[in-house]
Amino acid sequence: MLAAIQTDVDLTALTTLGVPARAAFFCKAGSVDEIRDALAWADSKGVPVQILGGGSNVVFAADFAGLVLQPALPGRAHVGETTNAHLVQVGAGERWHDTVSWTLQHGWPGLENLALIPGSVGAAPIQNIGAYGLELTDRFHELEAFDRTTGESVALDREACRFGYRDSVFKRHPRDRWIVLSVTFALPRAWTPQASYRDLAEELLARKIAEPSAQDVFDAVVAVRQRKLPDPAEVGNVGSFFKNPLVDAATWQRLASAFPGLVSYPQADGHFKLAAGWLIDQAGWKGRSLGHARVHPNQALVLTNAGGATGKEILALADAIAEDVARRFDIQLEAEPIVIGKPASD
Ligand SMILES: Cc1cc2nc3c(=O)[nH]c(=O)nc-3n(C[C@H](O)[C@H](O)[C@H](O)COP(=O)(O)OP(=O)(O)OC[C@H]3O[C@@H](n4cnc5c(N)ncnc54)[C@H](O)[C@@H]3O)c2cc1C
Repeated sequence: MLAAIQTDVDLTALTTLGVPARAAFFCKAGSVDEIRDALAWADSKGVPVQILGGGSNVVFAADFAGLVLQPALPGRAHVGETTNAHLVQVGAGERWHDTVSWTLQHGWPGLENLALIPGSVGAAPIQNIGAYGLELTDRFHELEAFDRTTGESVALDREACRFGYRDSVFKRHPRDRWIVLSVTFALPRAWTPQASYRDLAEELLARKIAEPSAQDVFDAVVAVRQRKLPDPAEVGNVGSFFKNPLVDAATWQRLASAFPGLVSYPQADGHFKLAAGWLIDQAGWKGRSLGHARVHPNQALVLTNAGGATGKEILALADAIAEDVARRFDIQLEAEPIVIGKPASD
């Protein structure tokens, strides 16, 4: 056995929501061999495996009676060039935000719009992280993953990952088939800022920056995020709890007529993205609590641990909001984070 398997581990501090949960077994694996050994150990014991990165997009609704495996593979390197891009490979265990800073420091811009997103590099492809007009897929080259069905490491390109809005093959396929080992980014050699997203454009305008550098965009994104989102170190949360619903033109027309203030974004394919935060706010949930779970008073899309909340309380609040939004608008909200240990009856 290469990596230590710990028993009965408290996971509370290993998630940004900070709800109480314990893992029967826990292993932090720093290499593919350690991952392979930990999986073999779990197989030999007949216990399930749950992959955990930085814990910023998961809700533990119960203790986990198996092995929680945290891929901690380190390393960042410039590994090549294409005609258009610098190829930069980063280990799954590296922190996302530190990686964004590191690429800028080395003169390889392109990830700056995604600054300050918590979590690990290995988890970034799972929901195709996105913010301020950019998604991971826009800067993705390929990733290396350990395929648990074959026991082999494989390279998956963008097509194989089937990225969508906060979605990928990793979310749709049986959970945890692939363990991401590293991600290779394609960072544009001819960089231009992507600064048209409203909050970002306003922040740059307020700073009187007309032609932003990548560092300017990074600084502006950090400032906007610090102003708008609660810091998980102070208030437990998982960022946006719901995806923005995508609707067809007829549904959008129905809602826009009934609710003149509707906040929505037209999509290139004729669909509309509705601002889930607006729907929740209109339904009167901003700042409301259920048990120890609370809707953030300034940001209706963020559900928080108001102190001493359980995962079940967070999910009960999410369910109450989703039911209310469905009743008022006939729109189904879809949760963004991964729920672990949700009772089958729910
Ligand atoms: C304050 C705040 C702001 C946020 N803002 C954004 C935002 O702007 N945009 C956005 O997209 N997200 C945002 N998020 C959500 C979250 O930060 C991202 O989804 C992040 O990528 C999760 O990384 P993690 O390492 O914490 O993953 P975890 O929460 O640990 O895991 C998430 C999922 O990925 C799987 N996973 C983790 N590592 C691996 C691996 N190596 N291989 C295979 N599967 C793996 C887990 O099994 C789980 O299913 C925010 C969260 C918070 C708390």
